[in-house]
Amino acid sequence: MTTLAAIPHHHLALDCACGHWALVPVPALAERYGPETDVDEVQRRARCGECGRIGAEAVQIIWKGADDAMDGAGVKPTEPPT
Ligand SMILES: [Zn+2]
Repeated sequence: MTTLAAIPHHHLALDCACGHWALVPVPALAERYGPETDVDEVQRRARCGECGRIGAEAVQIIWKGADDAMDGAGVKPTEPPT
């Protein structure tokens, strides 16, 4: 089980049976469902913006962090002692 809190820099690709799919940033989902919600639960609870169906056919965790990873907290180059 993967909680949303564990993958803050990822997106979820949610596929609906109607063919509609959405790529949603995980922080937006954490805000809606709670950070301790796991990915399976998001899949069950997600609502299609196109047809209104509840529950996605498939969910995929997408890593999209490369472009905004640089402003991540705690990234600090280690300085050699002088
Ligand atoms: Zn749909």
